[in-house]
Amino acid sequence: MNELYNKLIEKIKSYNKTCDFSLIKTAYDTAVLAHSGQNRKSGEPYVCHPLSVAIILAEMELDCDSIVAAILHDTIEDTKFGHEEIKNIFGEQIVSLVEGVTKLGKIPYSTKEEQQVENLRKMFLAMAKDIRVILIKLADRLHNIRTLASLSDEKRRAKAWETLEVYAPLAHRLGIFKIKTELEDLSLKYLDPIGYNDIKSHIEKLNDERKEYIKSITETVENKLSEMGIKFVISGRTKNIYSTYKKMYAQNKSIEEIYDLFAIRVIVDSVADCYAVLGMVHELFKPIPGRFKDYIAMPKPNAYQSLHSTMIGTLGTPFEIQIRTWEMHRTAEFGIAAHWKYKEGKSGLTDLDNKLSWVRQLIEIQKETTDAQEFMKSIKIDLFADEVFVFTPKGDVINLPAGSNPIDFAFAIHSAVGNKMMGAKVNGKIVPIDHTLLNGDIVEVLTSSSVHGPSFDWLKIAKTSQARNKINQWFKKEKREENIIKGKETIEKELKKYSVPYNQVFTPEFIESIVKRFSMTSFEDVLSAIGYGAISISKITPKIKDEINKLQKTDEKIPIIKEYTPKNKKGNNGIIVEGIENCLVRLSKCCNPVPGDKIIGYITRGRGVSVHRKDCQNISFLESIKDEATRIIKVYWANMQNASYTADIQIVSQDRNGLLSEITMVFSEYKIPLRAVNAKTTKDNIAIVQISLEVLSTQQLENLTKRLLRISGVYKITRVNQ
Ligand code: MN
Repeated sequence: MNELYNKLIEKIKSYNKTCDFSLIKTAYDTAVLAHSGQNRKSGEPYVCHPLSVAIILAEMELDCDSIVAAILHDTIEDTKFGHEEIKNIFGEQIVSLVEGVTKLGKIPYSTKEEQQVENLRKMFLAMAKDIRVILIKLADRLHNIRTLASLSDEKRRAKAWETLEVYAPLAHRLGIFKIKTELEDLSLKYLDPIGYNDIKSHIEKLNDERKEYIKSITETVENKLSEMGIKFVISGRTKNIYSTYKKMYAQNKSIEEIYDLFAIRVIVDSVADCYAVLGMVHELFKPIPGRFKDYIAMPKPNAYQSLHSTMIGTLGTPFEIQIRTWEMHRTAEFGIAAHWKYKEGKSGLTDLDNKLSWVRQLIEIQKETTDAQEFMKSIKIDLFADEVFVFTPKGDVINLPAGSNPIDFAFAIHSAVGNKMMGAKVNGKIVPIDHTLLNGDIVEVLTSSSVHGPSFDWLKIAKTSQARNKINQWFKKEKREENIIKGKETIEKELKKYSVPYNQVFTPEFIESIVKRFSMTSFEDVLSAIGYGAISISKITPKIKDEINKLQKTDEKIPIIKEYTPKNKKGNNGIIVEGIENCLVRLSKCCNPVPGDKIIGYITRGRGVSVHRKDCQNISFLESIKDEATRIIKVYWANMQNASYTADIQIVSQDRNGLLSEITMVFSEYKIPLRAVNAKTTKDNIAIVQISLEVLSTQQLENLTKRLLRISGVYKITRVNQ
């Protein structure tokens, strides 16, 4: 214990003489006290763990606060020391670091597909707020995985997977190569011990075989560099086991085919020296075409910089050379934790990489004014301020815009979930439906089959357009018939204020202009939208007023036809056309006038007079067109017997057993023949029955309607106008 502590102090002294060592000591004493009596699975005192984590951070040369927070990182979670105690002793900064680490530890993990894992990584970054929290968490995980041996096999595998899928890629993204490779190799060791040992012994064997060979190359390079007067350090590096493993399996290569298994690494003082060394080795050895990579000019997304080239050595065996400056070397090892340079990256980065490169730019700006220690303190990760990451009870991560609530969550899962939602639980507690979700929340939607659909108010509560669209869709689809009726009623109510009949205002022309105005495909869509409230009637009223004004003006101008001589002399359908005898008369199919209806005629071009109901939309339409209006002519019903006419009616009723048979009974009672019956039921138990029937007069139709309205449940009957 004390040994570890001394090691830590020595390490810090090697790079930061101004550190507050008394604070480190207090942290150490606090941790010893807090964890007293606790042992790790391996049997050693628990406090060895936080000390080891602090040492890893000291190796990365992190600031004093990070070291103190690392020593304390398990106190809030596992001991009687709470937020208040730590805050009183160490202050706001450190307690927020410790709490950040504690929070990250609570993110649940289970193996997922790639997109889920990516969201999980983002969630880590989003929750961390301060980059140092991530660094402490990475060091914590590194030490845990180093000491995994004492856990059960199952637990080891689970930890190893999590490490490989979440922690190692994060270390990679942040450019902390040193931690990344160790996390990967240790994870692989537990996940595929055979594969791991196989590659390990292979590499060792090859290492042995090539020792002399590498040595001779190294010496050749060393001699030449001394000759050139370049200051350098040269070393051999072996590719880490996991990268080798991945390359062998992913690209189906044998270990001999992996050219960069061994590399010679040359570290020099300046970029100019890097290129000088490269030129020199290309003269000494034969480079393999296409294997040269200039990561100095084109750094990797995680800011890695070096020159890489593969060459054929004296024995014909390829080897890789990596050339970099000391600064690049530190960046390669410690990434974001290092004091580093950022140059313009390449496109084709993932979203996360793009956001991280933004961090690098920030660092670059800060670097100009403050030193590395200072800026580490001030960097706050705000990469995902506009997003929130939450879990389903199964552990899937759902990514939503910040400020989202359970409604957004439910519809993000599936419309079927949102449409049946009756409430929600967050972290096990029932919450109001407009409860704002926070990063890491576990959200459960409570559904019920008795819920008939989303509430209309949700349109206002939902934050995501996805949820709103899906709610709108539901209202459009599920309640379409009712909404259309409701919409029409709303309009009729509005028209009552001006005492103008519906059909006079809502001419085909006017209807078309309204449909266009709201970019819908049919007038029924508009009515339905009014019905469910997506379009407020106040948006239509001004247009209606305009239309009424227009009507009043044109009314006076409708010219009256005086004389017309038709060529055709066939039947007249019981109609008298004013001023014309024996002309061809047809009852129009659009409004199916029956005797008693107020009617009007229209002189067609060559097909006689067509007779419409006065309130027919088509007639209002024709009247509004100058040339057509002159073809309107007055017509009357002749007193005809035994001629029948087709009419369409719609019956709206509460659905119930025997409804249809009662309706048909009424028809037979009145001896009125039915031509077609079409019935449907909406989700809300409303039956809508459309009937085509034959009547002799409006009087008969009126009587029938009155009788039908007496059927229990029926509350509305309308004459259908096509
Ligand atoms: Mn820990």
